[in-house]
Amino acid sequence: MKAWIPDPDRLLVMVDKPMPEPGVGEVLVQVEACGVCRTDLHLVEGDLPPRHPAISPGHQVVGRVVGGDGDVGQRVGVAWLRWTCGACRYCLDGKENLCLSSAYTGWDADGGYAEYLTVPAAYVYALPEGAPAEKLAPLLCAGIVGYRALLRADLPEGGRLGVYGFGASAHLTAQAAIAHGAVVHVVTRSSAARQLALELGAASAGDRPPEPLDAAILFAPVGDLVPVALAALDRGGTLAVAGIHLTDIPTLNYERHLFQERTLRSVTANTRADGRAYLDLSLGRPPHVSTTPYPFDRAASALRDLADGQVNGAAVLMLG
Ligand SMILES: [Zn+2]
Ligand SMILES: [Zn+2]
Repeated sequence: MKAWIPDPDRLLVMVDKPMPEPGVGEVLVQVEACGVCRTDLHLVEGDLPPRHPAISPGHQVVGRVVGGDGDVGQRVGVAWLRWTCGACRYCLDGKENLCLSSAYTGWDADGGYAEYLTVPAAYVYALPEGAPAEKLAPLLCAGIVGYRALLRADLPEGGRLGVYGFGASAHLTAQAAIAHGAVVHVVTRSSAARQLALELGAASAGDRPPEPLDAAILFAPVGDLVPVALAALDRGGTLAVAGIHLTDIPTLNYERHLFQERTLRSVTANTRADGRAYLDLSLGRPPHVSTTPYPFDRAASALRDLADGQVNGAAVLMLG
């Protein structure tokens, strides 16, 4: 089968790999579409150290089960969380996202920048027929992890939420918050992203929020924005950092950035319960999913465009 692997010069190169064989409890999935996530870029560029050489990235897979220990023919989604131990104190406490020996799609095992992949059957999400794969793929990481970030931001009912950066995950998360009654202020430099934010119902989109915020989510992987976003919180507010990788955070000033019981939190992956909850929510009331499709043989261009800030919404590799 055809698959993409990291390359130091060209980001990705296409290679031939043997068809993967599902192990016990695993399914073989034929890929229809795979969303391009900023984490893929962090993996390819080495911000996240590779766990195996020549692993194919990609963890927002829409596909179909074509073999293995599962429902052959079922349309499924494959997300970032690939496996957890089920026995450590985090797993037993409903926090499998913090599992001490968790494994991830496209990091510990081959992901969806390929024609096929294998994955434990207990970690796939059943998806409905009919909905276009291009619109479903971004829900699987951008949507799910953004949803967990929203939960971690502790936004009160009807509260004021700041959203810093407005890429794939932010545009889905903003819609989930607005649907729940939040007032959303988007901070981004991109004029196209500002326009999209206003079209999707944001109360403002500009250089800074026009009022103090109850909660904020930092989507841009830029540590310099942490003090800026903390300073814009109201008393008792919470800032959640959504990314898996962030550049260094500059020195914080206790008075300006943290006093008055402001809280700074990280977000680590998601549990399957988060994933199911978000998918049920968004399949029941589909958000607008802004996508840029790329044919499978242009995966390297998709990643390059993401690195250059040239993708509005979510880039999606299409295999069908
Ligand atoms: Zn565990
Ligand atoms: Zn991701």
